[in-house]
Amino acid sequence: MDFPPTKLDYHVDMFNLQSQSRFISVFKAQDGRIALILDSTLFHPQGGGQPADTGLIVFSGSDFKFSVQDVRSKDGIVLHYGVFEGSNPESGMDIEKGKEVYVTVDESRRKLNSRLHSAGHLLDLCMQKVGLGHLEPGKGYHFPDGPFVEYKGSVPQGQMAVKQKELEAEANDLITKGGKVYAAILPYEEASVLCGGNLPDYISKGSTPRIIKLGDSPGCPCGGTHVSDLSDIIAMKVTQMRTKKGITKVFYSIAS
Ligand SMILES: [Zn+2]
Repeated sequence: MDFPPTKLDYHVDMFNLQSQSRFISVFKAQDGRIALILDSTLFHPQGGGQPADTGLIVFSGSDFKFSVQDVRSKDGIVLHYGVFEGSNPESGMDIEKGKEVYVTVDESRRKLNSRLHSAGHLLDLCMQKVGLGHLEPGKGYHFPDGPFVEYKGSVPQGQMAVKQKELEAEANDLITKGGKVYAAILPYEEASVLCGGNLPDYISKGSTPRIIKLGDSPGCPCGGTHVSDLSDIIAMKVTQMRTKKGITKVFYSIAS
């Protein structure tokens, strides 16, 4: 696709759910869905274990609306998938480039996704507190239908039930205490210091990674959206813990 990368407004301010952007292009994707590209976006695309935002894109000076049902990112370009609404939705495909649009992200869905994502990060901290810090965090799945975090390494079967209980207690302790969540795009060296002295190999030297930091704990690179304070998670359950082929999966849920 021959478009400039989309500016990710949610990286800079993950709590702003309304903004203005400029329309770049609209086309029918290979799968038949309509894809819309903006110069910048508040919509979080599916990725990094977090589901896509939904919401509305309204075109300035017309009755065109685009209902966003799914968002993906490809080569740095954010694709908003959805349908045109209005008196003549067919002509939505002819909208001229450069038009100003008003973007609104669905608040309840975003809030839930942010709480689930922060809860997943909180588990990483609690793994250290219960003596499982040697297990390296891997993939996270922060979707509402059975969220979990994976860790490289095993937990002995005999310790599993105790560790599960301890994890849940630690997590709820941190939620009750609360703590500000910090997000910033930083120079590599500064980011490294904030993350306890080193960054994972997939962050290239000289880049400017986005760092998320929960309370006083060391930060980590993350492109997702989070709560503003740990107390916003409200409460958390560690629903299951299992080790298979050297990978430990910790399943969790949050209070509704
Ligand atoms: Zn994350």
